[in-house]
Order: sequence, then C-alpha cells, then structure tokens
Amino acid sequence: MSATLATPAPRDWSSYRADFPQLARQVHGKPLIYFDNANTAQKPQSVIDAVERYYTQFNANVARAVHTLGEEATAAYEASRDTLARFINAGSRNEVVFTSGTTQAINLVAYSFALPRLSAGDEIVVTQMEHHANIVPWQLMCQRTGAVLKVAPITPSGELMVDRFLEMLTPRVKLAAVAHVSNVIGTVNPIAELARACRSRGVPLLVDGSQACPHMPVDVQALGCDFYALTGHKLFGPTGTGALWARREWLEEMPPFFGGGEMIRTVSFEGTVFADPPHKFEAGTPNIAGFIGLGAAIDYINAIGIERIAAHEAELLAYATAAFKQVPGLRLFGEAPKKAAVLSFLIEGVHAHDLATLLDHEGVAVRSGHHCAHPLMQFFGVPATARASLSFYNTREEVDRFIVALEKVRRLLA
Ligand code: PLP
Repeated sequence: MSATLATPAPRDWSSYRADFPQLARQVHGKPLIYFDNANTAQKPQSVIDAVERYYTQFNANVARAVHTLGEEATAAYEASRDTLARFINAGSRNEVVFTSGTTQAINLVAYSFALPRLSAGDEIVVTQMEHHANIVPWQLMCQRTGAVLKVAPITPSGELMVDRFLEMLTPRVKLAAVAHVSNVIGTVNPIAELARACRSRGVPLLVDGSQACPHMPVDVQALGCDFYALTGHKLFGPTGTGALWARREWLEEMPPFFGGGEMIRTVSFEGTVFADPPHKFEAGTPNIAGFIGLGAAIDYINAIGIERIAAHEAELLAYATAAFKQVPGLRLFGEAPKKAAVLSFLIEGVHAHDLATLLDHEGVAVRSGHHCAHPLMQFFGVPATARASLSFYNTREEVDRFIVALEKVRRLLA
C-alpha cells in the first residue's frame, strides 16, 4: 500500500515572530513594533546560526585552499549561489554575481556595461521614483561621457506613466533602469511589460529589485529584463551581501570592474586571463559568512513560501491602509493599485522626524527622511515623510497599537 505524503500545514503567521530574536525586545519599556523593514529586515535565528557555524566550524577562505575547511567554506558559499539562482529563477548559477548589495551591483553595470557603450548625446532612462542608488551611478556615467539622463514621470498616485516611458525609448537610449518596487511608496512597476518594450527596441533594462525580492516571487527569466540587482539585508540576510543577476551574454562581454585575486585564471606580466563569470566580477576575499547567511535566509523564506508571504502582506497592507486613513490630518503618499506594504505618510503640521522620534518613545521603529529618494520628495513637494514598511512577521495587532501610538503623537504635536 502506498503511503500518502501529507503536506505539512502552514504555520500560523504569528508563530514566525519567535524565529526573530530581536522582535522580542523592548524599546523605551514598550514591546518593539518594527516597521522599518524597507530599510533593513530582521534576521531569523537560522541565519544567525549559519553565520556562527561558519565562524566556529569551518572558517577558511574560499576557492584557495584544498584543505577540508577551505573545501567546506567554498561548498557552503557556492551553495548560496545555487540557492539564490533558484530563488530568482536564473537560467544558470553563473549568471549570479555576488556583490556587497544593490548599490555595488548597479555600479558594476554602470562602469562595466554602460560606460564603454556611452557617447555624448546618448541617453539613459530612469523613473521619478528611483532610489539614489539607481540615479547617481547613471549621473556619474553621464558626466564622464556627455550622455543625458532622462526621467520618466509618475502620476500623483505614484504610478509610472508607462506610455511616457515607452515614448522615451528612442534609438539614443543605451539603457533603462527602473525599480521593481519603490522603497518610498511601494509602487510595483510592470517590469515584464517594460522589458518587452525595451527588448523590442534593443534597449537593455536594469531592474532594481531591492524592495521586490523580500515580498513577491521574482522570476528574472519571466520578467525578461537584462540585469536584476538585489540586496541581502532586506531579504533577511546579513548586511554587506547582494547580487547582480545578468544575462550570460552580457557577463561574457563585460570587462571586470575590480581586479585582484579570485577573479583570474592566470596572471603574468605579459597579460592576465580572467576567470569565467561570475567569478570574473568577484575580486578579493568575499563576505563569506554573509553569503552563507544569505543562503540560510532564502532557505527560511522558501520554507514559508514567497507566494504565501506576498498574499499575507497584501492583506496586512489593506488592513493598515484602512487604519491609516482613519487618522485625522494624515496624508498618505502613493496609492498605486499594485503596491507592496510600504506606507509613507505625514500628519498635517508635524515634521516627519518629530513623528518618528516620538513614535520611537512608544516602541515603534519607522523611518523618517527622504528615503534616499530626493527627486521623489521634490515630486510630492515635501522635504521628508515618515515611512512604515511591513513584513510578513508584522501583525494586525501591531498595526492597531501603531495607530494608538500615532494618535497619541498627533495629539501631542498637531
Ligand atoms: N534601491 C532601493 C529601491 C533601495 O530601497 C535600496 C536600499 O534602501 C537600495 C537600492 C540600496 O541598497 P543597498 O544600500 O543595500 O545597496
């Protein structure tokens, strides 16, 4: 008789909180409400354990030693590449370049891919809602080459004006660079549609996936983009980790950005032969512990299921949005129909920093400021906003407590 394999019942959402040691702490004598996940996410114990295991059991350099520890370290480090490649459905593990984060990934594309292709009068297209990490590298390239940065506009509710974006894809455009999800207003951009349009016009598309990967399934092949940048610390992994996924043909073509050990096959004073991608772009000793931790973080997410996370966060966002709208004098920024659980807001007459400081006294962590998106702040005509960004481990009860704290702060300041 064949046994029926029962799928284990999904864990109750509130049970995941116990996996994150820091969620149990108090701030100013109040239970922490951590609503700053778009800034960096908390780490589950399994990630902390994976990092500790590396340092206590097989701390050694990767790819250099044939001794047991070196082999174990290399195997664990490279296993994380496989895990990440599967997580984003890369066509090959060799298309995943480890970087220190999104910022380094985008700069790698800027210096190694864009710079050699740009001439005076060429154009790069970005959108009004980009993080500085997806603006400044392109400005640097434009300064060097005389290329011009073009900005696709957004609507007052924070949606990309797709028609305007498409109109901007002229033959002068050498690259387009777009956030998958806005870190300030949560807008989810229609990347597959943009990628199809870019492809048909021969424009390579870079996607800044920093805020997408922790919250929704990402399939780089289905998206059809050319480059996808992500950062590990928002994905419940250690800081100083991230990746660039790129089509293999681009990685073959691109010259290395950094030179040094680990990225070569042979070196002589007559000439150096570089390693194949991805190692060609990974000069020097990497953040071994960090990437081992990142692999554990993705294993953790996979055990929950990223689709389940997306559905759960959508419910949490709907609940939080309705609750925020009940607060008198609250202005919400960005109400795109496709949106991740990020709520940027202001209370009439109150500065964002005062809001965040007083909320901190209530045990609530939100970010205040320009969120590394000055041009988006200019678009909304404000210097700063407060931002509550949620994760799957946040609860409706936390949203309720947050609203009580916000009301208290509002009465104090308004
Ligand atoms: N892009 C977006 C949309 C972000 O939210 C962030 C981080 O806040 C970055 C890029 C930069 O990421 P990192 O500082 O990890 O390189």
